[in-house]
Amino acid sequence: MSKITVKTPLVEMNGDEMTRIIWDLIKEKIVKRYLEIDLREYDLHVQNRDRTDDQVTIDAAHAIREFKVGVKCATITPDADRVEEYKLKKAWRSPNGTIRNILNGTIFRKPITVNNIHPYVRSWKKPIVIGRHAYGDLYRSVELRIDGPASTSVVSTHDGKSQSVPAFDFAGPGIFMGIHNTDESIRSFAQSSIAYAASEKMDLWFSVKDTISKTYHARFKDIFQEEVDAAADTFAAAGISYRYLLIDDAVAQAIKHPGGFVWALSNYDGDVMSDLIAAGFGSLGMMTSVLVSPSGAFEYEAAHGTVKRHYYQHLEGKATSTNSVASMFAWTGALRKRGELDATPELVKFAETWERAVLSLIEEGVVTKDLTALIDPPSANFESTQSFIDKVSDRLETLLSASS
Ligand code: NAP
Ligand code: MG
Repeated sequence: MSKITVKTPLVEMNGDEMTRIIWDLIKEKIVKRYLEIDLREYDLHVQNRDRTDDQVTIDAAHAIREFKVGVKCATITPDADRVEEYKLKKAWRSPNGTIRNILNGTIFRKPITVNNIHPYVRSWKKPIVIGRHAYGDLYRSVELRIDGPASTSVVSTHDGKSQSVPAFDFAGPGIFMGIHNTDESIRSFAQSSIAYAASEKMDLWFSVKDTISKTYHARFKDIFQEEVDAAADTFAAAGISYRYLLIDDAVAQAIKHPGGFVWALSNYDGDVMSDLIAAGFGSLGMMTSVLVSPSGAFEYEAAHGTVKRHYYQHLEGKATSTNSVASMFAWTGALRKRGELDATPELVKFAETWERAVLSLIEEGVVTKDLTALIDPPSANFESTQSFIDKVSDRLETLLSASS
């Protein structure tokens, strides 16, 4: 079978633990078998980040900005235990945080749906994608413990002039918090949400509580509406619509809805709802994630971590059965986007065929252990980490030769 040529380099970031093992298998058994591709490799193994003082992560982010598409393996975000375990100089920052700061994007999480895994919520037939604003609010708050009777106010200084709003007069002990956001960040969140919804051809929802928060949440609502109005042509070309709902109305609507929409949410709402949606659709091994930058760069990855427990089993010489579907869909997402940007329809078709190979196997009951109880009918058998990837590669070859 002749290989498909990928016209532009693809930025590829290797990672840690079990997902690194999966990553190397995917590259060897599928990517390099079927594609003529210039991979710009950045090794984000935690010890390589340590060796380079994390410069490798910064370089990778700049490469994504240059080439527009990247695909990333899950990585360890070191804490004190990891510093000890891997003998690191320090607890380096989360690579995803570093990359996001450089690309200034929004992360969208999308469940991979198959006919024989029924979401816990019966009405959900199509994916619900969460777009979480990853800046400000609770995550950048300033907080105070109030020890006794106190009066509080919020003060800002601009051009030497102060504005002050009285907040609350405490009669006794209590707590106080101040949160902020910026027009620039909210606007880029709105732009990324519109770009993603248009590229997936899915309707866009946005929700906050502007009836209560008439300045703060209302600003989000207004900026979204301005960006939606400015992108009227994009909405028309993609055949999609925009809906603003109050957050409590939106959660009730989302439960009754068949799905198939992108739900943009503020930082805290997105944090909470993305885990609820992930659990509702079934398995972490079936959730992909993409960082969309307003500059037009895309970075794809699995939503799960490095699956540490399975890796330790592997190190003990035990067989593992780790789900590689989300990692493969990171690759198919990146290759499809590369194909669209380069106008290479055969690459887009390859990515779709790879996805079909994965989904058809699962629908025949060929699964890793995490899915055995979720599929209908449940299965007593499961594949190992490696045998599942082998079966996908073989099925892909069959599908590709049938269509050529
Ligand atoms: P995890 O990798 O998400 O795995 C937690 C548990 O979820 C696993 O033990 C496993 O459950 C199940 N699971 C997740 N992915 C699976 C898959 N593909 N196939 C089968 N089961 C899967 O979280 P973790 O093990 O707690 O975290 C490990 C490291 O990942 C941490 O160092 C963290 O910093 C990092 N992390 C990275 C990213 C990222 O790079 N995007 C995201 C999150 C976490 P069972 O054990 O019950 O089988
Ligand atoms: Mg969370």
